[in-house]
Amino acid sequence: MASHVVGYPRMGPKRELKFALESFWDGKSSAEDLKKVSADLRSSIWKQMFDAGIKYIPSNTFSYYDQVLDTTAMLGAVPSRYNWTGGEIEFGTYFSMARGNASVPAMEMTKWFDTNYHFIVPELGPDVNFSYASHKAVNEYKEAKAQGVDTVPVLVGPVSYLLLSKPAKGVEKSFPLLSLLDKILPIYKEVIAELKAAGASWIQLDEPTLVLDLESHKLEAFTKAYADLESSLSGLNVLVETYFADVPAGAFKTLTALKGVTAFGFDLVRGTQTLELIKSSFPSGKYLFAGVVDGRNIWANDLAASLALLQSLEGVVGKDKLVASTSCSLLHTAVDLINETKLDDEIKSWLAFAAQKVVEVNALAKALSGAKDEAFFSANAAAQASRKSSPRVTNEAVQKASAALQGSDHRRATNVSARLDAQQKKLNLPILPTTTIGSFPQTVELRRVRREYKAKKISEEEYVKAITEEIKKVVDLQEELDIDVLVHGEPERNDMVEYFGEQLSGFAFTANGWVQSYGSRCVKPPIIYGDVSRPKPMTVFWSSKAQEMTKRPMKGMLTGPVTILNWSFVRNDQPRFETCYQIALAIKDEVEDLEKAGITVIQIDEAALREGLPLRKAEHAFYLNWAVHSFRITNVGIEDTTQIHTHMCYSNFNDIIHSIIDMDADVITIENSRSDEKLLSVFREGVKYGAGIGPGVYDIHSPRIPSTEEIADRVNKMLAVLDTNILWVNPDCGLKTRKYIEVKPALQNMVSAAKTIRTQL
Ligand code: GLN
Ligand code: ZN
Repeated sequence: MASHVVGYPRMGPKRELKFALESFWDGKSSAEDLKKVSADLRSSIWKQMFDAGIKYIPSNTFSYYDQVLDTTAMLGAVPSRYNWTGGEIEFGTYFSMARGNASVPAMEMTKWFDTNYHFIVPELGPDVNFSYASHKAVNEYKEAKAQGVDTVPVLVGPVSYLLLSKPAKGVEKSFPLLSLLDKILPIYKEVIAELKAAGASWIQLDEPTLVLDLESHKLEAFTKAYADLESSLSGLNVLVETYFADVPAGAFKTLTALKGVTAFGFDLVRGTQTLELIKSSFPSGKYLFAGVVDGRNIWANDLAASLALLQSLEGVVGKDKLVASTSCSLLHTAVDLINETKLDDEIKSWLAFAAQKVVEVNALAKALSGAKDEAFFSANAAAQASRKSSPRVTNEAVQKASAALQGSDHRRATNVSARLDAQQKKLNLPILPTTTIGSFPQTVELRRVRREYKAKKISEEEYVKAITEEIKKVVDLQEELDIDVLVHGEPERNDMVEYFGEQLSGFAFTANGWVQSYGSRCVKPPIIYGDVSRPKPMTVFWSSKAQEMTKRPMKGMLTGPVTILNWSFVRNDQPRFETCYQIALAIKDEVEDLEKAGITVIQIDEAALREGLPLRKAEHAFYLNWAVHSFRITNVGIEDTTQIHTHMCYSNFNDIIHSIIDMDADVITIENSRSDEKLLSVFREGVKYGAGIGPGVYDIHSPRIPSTEEIADRVNKMLAVLDTNILWVNPDCGLKTRKYIEVKPALQNMVSAAKTIRTQL
């Protein structure tokens, strides 16, 4: 019985890689410095896994930016705009593809399945001249070997690589990307040959696209590709690894029949149905890599349960063919619990980050082979029991209230057009009302004030004074600009989830629980460990203070339950929807308190609603149903005259438009910077839509200042499709990352565009 790890975080326990990358990009350190930091990180990871007793240790899971980009480099598939002239790809070309340079934009980045990791999308077409242009996989294999660690080199599999790519600019959208298989397989063969020559006895090919809804021609591509690779793979043990969900029955059949493959890896944490397929039809004589340790979360494994599961699989595939593994790469969890000095021991005992998960995998393998570490298992059992029974986890009242929500529908009594009428009587807004999304620029000075308050270096009084002054500045500016519905600017918030999590019970925060999001960027998700409740109002103090400064409506500003959920590490001892309902109830309390305090417009951001969509279509309806229900719960108890806004950070919602309408918000503001067409086409197609809508009129991600004409032009385009009386005029998203010198003129132009159009209507 052996152990395996699918992949490991690259950033380092203290984000060493991030700092090395950024310093290199800033020209503050050399390529050699960056290489040194990276080599040290790889070496310590290999050593750690080796010392833990892991048998199949991965290599080539390190990356300077992204493993898909590494594959693009390996295949020499550099888009022509980077003027690459061949040879081995160096940092210059590599980082230009990742981040752009002074003259050329970066390649597109998109979310890796349903994680918060982003990969660089390959741009392919019939003219790409593939060549073996990065020997990284082989070099890292050799590097580990020289340190005495015989690793399993990991490559993104050829079919998933193509399925995750897109046609390059100028190539027909309908270009069959899979037709490029014949061109990339020869390079895979070269890499495999070199790995063999270097002494590799195993290779891991990641083919996570097998968990998606794939049409039959895509499944056939797997069959064809692996048949083609078969002879070059001979002599190697070949693991095809899948993760993030069940492998559907059809794909399971294709996968387990692949030529040249000796081992199959499955995510048994998220893919519980795969288990039945394994039990009924796993091919004999092959290895099963059973992903039982969750790579997507930070919870300690329930070792007794995993051991029982593994034992049941032993009977199916045989003792010597079963390998204990992680459910996916540990890239998606935090790095090492050892650096958490702020968390108390009880909570810590419930957690396992990547370094601890490696130990868990190995403990399971050892236990199966009869060498169970009794002390380790009983400590784990005690931690599991304490988590189940801790009063910090369970709050009877919250459990009851959230259980009562299930099975019934919650919506405001009156329909949206009647509510909008009632609200207009009270708010008396002009047509095409102007507003912003919430945050205003966060200056260095502002961040310092927050930091010093947190560190208790300044008193509460000083802090309140400073924040109040900041709000006043933002309010005055908006009045001067003549914006209709104001915001307070969110100066008291570092982050839209953390701010609420810190004030809700059931949340814990780490000091170093960073997870790579893209390139050198990391996020530090809060941990939801217990029933969620709101001990006291969270935003009422600042919102009412801000409202007192102006006669115009001041928007209350909240983060919605689905976004809080999707941007946190969520407890795994109850369904996600249950946790979401609990957060919804806490936000509901806040909404009602804001209303009581005289706030008449309340925005509840659901920036991450779409991110939670399950990978497979069959599961969409269930998710959208509870997600949208959670949102409605937050504002079901308020007056018709209180106007509820929501905001979303994406325009691509053609497929979920009915769910968005079903949220029943009075006004929706949405990102719209990349294409008016995409968004507007939904409405052009005749979707019945009666609520207020504010498609962003300019892109806040860019420092560029849009002209009045340009904004007016976009508003007019929208007016061609949407009713005059439902259209709002606002930027794309919050202004937090911009500077005042950009924000002032941009908003000035936005208001003047709205005013000009009003006179023309
Ligand atoms: N209200 C938030 C802000 O303005 C919304 C941010 C977001 O949508 N990501 O910053
Ligand atoms: Zn946004």
